[in-house]
Amino acid sequence: LSNGDTTKNWDIDKSAIRLEQLLGDGQFGIVYRGTYTDKGGNKQLVAVKVCRAEKESQDISAINKYLLDEAYTMQQFNHPHIIRLIGICTEGTVGAWCVMELAQYGELRVYLIREKASIDLSVQILFSHQLASALSYLHERQFIHRDIAARNCLVATPQCVKLSDFGLSRQLEDEPIYTSSYGKLPIKWMAPESLNFRKFTTKSDVYMFGVCVWEILSNGIKPWQGVRNHEVIMRVERGELLEQPPNCPKAMYDLLRVMWMIEPKFRISMQEVANFLEHLLEEIDHG
Ligand code: ADP
Repeated sequence: LSNGDTTKNWDIDKSAIRLEQLLGDGQFGIVYRGTYTDKGGNKQLVAVKVCRAEKESQDISAINKYLLDEAYTMQQFNHPHIIRLIGICTEGTVGAWCVMELAQYGELRVYLIREKASIDLSVQILFSHQLASALSYLHERQFIHRDIAARNCLVATPQCVKLSDFGLSRQLEDEPIYTSSYGKLPIKWMAPESLNFRKFTTKSDVYMFGVCVWEILSNGIKPWQGVRNHEVIMRVERGELLEQPPNCPKAMYDLLRVMWMIEPKFRISMQEVANFLEHLLEEIDHG
């Protein structure tokens, strides 16, 4: 990792990592649960993203770059609701490994579906608030995530979720980011200006986060089920919104609506979203 934190050495020997169980198969990386034994002999459970090309004969250097870019991004953050980088392995065999903090309960969307019966409104708002604080932290540092969705959030404990998957995230200089290809973009989560002009800003992150909160309030149902992507684009342009989930309080749906304003400048900021959710949480806990 170049020009990052020079006070910490992020290099880990592959021999210090034991890969144990396949956790997930991503676009660029294959993620394993594993154990990391540090130089002092302390053991720690970790998640290890292994370069995909190690398994298949793909372009290793391109995938390695993607993996290291993501690690470089993660390395800059220090927040209780953002998955931490522990280190990287680059020596030896071909592909790089990205070693991260393990979120024991796995993907948020899967968790929401599985634990539907035990997740009430206060937990839904707790999770939403934690993720809002993580995104607000990123935005303060001029980072935009660009791929906010329940599938990219992980559950550390039944009371703690973390933002993950920084593969698409970028640091904004001054100008918004314009993406050149639609490739694998998450159409059903995207803001109208991202759909139309491929424009990404902190305000498009706010819009996407609204869809993510909608997924949380809907127990892991995907947005626009059964609707084709091009149809979603037309509906969003006409100002159509995802429906108010059952049991979603009016105050929460009002919040979603200000996150989904067509005009980015009318959307509230991530900091305001986090403040709003914090108050709502206090009200629920004391009422
Ligand atoms: P990609 O970005 O290449 O698509 P992901 O980051 O989505 O790969 O990882 C694939 C899967 O691995 C995730 O859906 C998740 O289930 C699992 N995973 C990733 N990181 C962690 C982690 N830190 N803790 C637990 N599970 C993880």
